[in-house]
Amino acid sequence: MAYHPAEDRYERMQYRRCGASGLKLPAVSLGLWHNFGHDTPHQTKQAICRKAFDLGITHFDLANNYGPAPGAAEHAFGSILSEDFEGYRDELIISSKAGYRMWPGPHGEMGSRKYLVASCDQSLKRMGLDYVDIFYSHRFDPETPLEETMGALDYIVRSGRALYAGISSYNAERTRQAVAILKDLGTPCLIHQPSYNMLNRWVERDGLKDTLTELGVGSIAFTPLAQGMLTTKYLGGIPEGSRASQGKSLAKTMLSEAALSNIRKLNEIAEGRGQTLAQMAIAWVLRDGGITTALIGASKPSQVEDCAGAITNLDFTTEELALIDEYADE
Ligand code: NDP
Repeated sequence: MAYHPAEDRYERMQYRRCGASGLKLPAVSLGLWHNFGHDTPHQTKQAICRKAFDLGITHFDLANNYGPAPGAAEHAFGSILSEDFEGYRDELIISSKAGYRMWPGPHGEMGSRKYLVASCDQSLKRMGLDYVDIFYSHRFDPETPLEETMGALDYIVRSGRALYAGISSYNAERTRQAVAILKDLGTPCLIHQPSYNMLNRWVERDGLKDTLTELGVGSIAFTPLAQGMLTTKYLGGIPEGSRASQGKSLAKTMLSEAALSNIRKLNEIAEGRGQTLAQMAIAWVLRDGGITTALIGASKPSQVEDCAGAITNLDFTTEELALIDEYADE
């Protein structure tokens, strides 16, 4: 059936300025790392994307290697774009990245200009796009001069392949250097994509979060739900089909009795706030304005709906934050 986006979609979401840029991003963004490969039916992928857009989620995050197989998520998203979102391109912020292994040989990963430009061209082809909105260096490459990697991002933007440049998982010190190089080149760093959630606070310890605020660079926190741990889904065991059950990136050993007992306590705090645990986890990431958007993943549309509901309560009392720290410190 033909898809018609919900007319009230922009009343359902909040939009937050990305650092000092002119771009606003939805408070909740959708990532296509898992559940968009060959192992998931097309209808499910389509239903997740439709639900997201209906809820005002305008930002879809991809990377060259998302699958399985690598590239499959971009292919699937390209089909969804042509089936459902034709005519809506200007309402969407689509990102991709390069950094991890994509093809054999010395030019198929990391941070060289050769790899980044070729990979960006491949991503555009897979998605059937003329340009992406944001293109990222997916990881720091210790063997390539940072000037070369940032120079490649600058070239990708100047050649019209992307509108903005971003970096992912760079620490505070390297971020400072990368941002300075990009500034000199005249292509400001729009955004940084680090992991961040109640159970993983490296961006605070490392000083990255404060550095980004100081430099006026926006931020998009990936795995805000700790891959599903910060939801109620594992409290009664490991459900069939869940990420932990599939031996993917979430190891069963993470779900120890001690961890689950803390998650139960966190769920009680969320209930006290009138939120689901997933909603509280997202609100926590967004709580002080230091993070622009929470980048969730989903295996079904109802999860997207639950997560988007986080925006109705993003404020925490000092007592709530202290209580969360008791059960969710690293
Ligand atoms: P999350 O922490 O949001 O975990 C998503 C998983 O949590 C879902 O697949 C689902 O698990 C479960 N879930 C989501 N919502 C709910 C809900 N409301 N109730 C119950 N369970 C829920 O993020 P991801 O780990 O998926 O990562 C998000 C995105 O971040 C990726 O798609 C990617 O775009 C980006 N990313 C970037 C990286 C980088 O290096 N830059 C690395 C990793 C991710 P289930 O599938 O079991 O149902």
